[in-house]
Amino acid sequence: MKGLERRLLEKQINPTAMRLVVLDHLVKQTNAVSLTDMELGMEKTDRVTLYRSIRTFEEHGLVHRIEDGTGVTKFALCQPDCTIDGHHDLHVHFYCINCQETHCLPKTQIPEVKLPGGYERQETSLLVKGLCSACKK
Ligand SMILES: [Zn+2]
Ligand SMILES: [Zn+2]
Repeated sequence: MKGLERRLLEKQINPTAMRLVVLDHLVKQTNAVSLTDMELGMEKTDRVTLYRSIRTFEEHGLVHRIEDGTGVTKFALCQPDCTIDGHHDLHVHFYCINCQETHCLPKTQIPEVKLPGGYERQETSLLVKGLCSACKK
C-alpha cells in the first residue's frame, strides 16, 4: 500500500482507507471502467462513497472521465502530469467494437485543433472506434 499512499499524497489527496482501496482497484485495470464495473469488482463498497472518492480523484488530476459513446461514463488513471490545476494529458481514447472495452492511448496525443475566432475551448476529447490489438489477432 505504500506506493499507493505516495501516489495519493503526490496529488494532494488525503489517503483514507477507502481511497486506497479504490486506487488499488484502478491500478489493476487494463481498460477504462464505469462506476458499476468498480462496484462489482470491489468488496465492501457502497456507490455513494465510491462516487465521492472518484470525484476527489478527478478533481485532483488522478483519474479522468471518458465518454465513449456507450452512454456510460468510464474512468481511467491519468498520466503523472495531471494535477489539481487541471488535466493536461490530451490523449486519444479507443473503443473496441468487439470486446467493448475502452482504452487510454497515452502515446497518441490529440492534435492541436484550431477554433474560429470567438470560440473558447474548455476541453477536447477524441475517441477512435475499431478493433483493439487483442481482438484484431
Ligand atoms: Zn477488443
Ligand atoms: Zn485516458
